[in-house]
Amino acid sequence: MPNEPILIRCKSCRTLNRVPADKLSANPICGNCKKPLEFPRFPVNATSATFEQEVFDWPEYVLLEFWAKWCGYCRMVEPVVNDLASWRAGRLKAVRIDIDAEPILAKRFTVKATPTFILFKNGTQLGRIDGAPKEKLHLVQWVDQYLK
Ligand SMILES: [Zn+2]
Repeated sequence: MPNEPILIRCKSCRTLNRVPADKLSANPICGNCKKPLEFPRFPVNATSATFEQEVFDWPEYVLLEFWAKWCGYCRMVEPVVNDLASWRAGRLKAVRIDIDAEPILAKRFTVKATPTFILFKNGTQLGRIDGAPKEKLHLVQWVDQYLK
């Protein structure tokens, strides 16, 4: 990963902070209000109530996954999504949506297969995978090709 600054929006005052990638592990604080900057190291579950904030308000990359409890491949790929959320924390946020709990969101994104992955940066769609990637590792490579 290049050491480009990572954009993190402060949850308290909403100031956009630029944090050097190598300073992420040093508990960075907001330049404006001095509160700790928060970024998840694990996938976040979104609902229609939190979707806009979790996905479109995030200034960096979002890996959005539409999944279902009954989907075997979703369970298989879950550790890979967890790893991505941890390895790329700050740069990438993984957001999961349960299609049975959130049918309106599933319809809005025309989800026809699970898992469906959509990658966003700052609210713009960069890529999409409908249905299971061929290999689990393929997902990591697919995401990393966009993370510049
Ligand atoms: Zn702040």
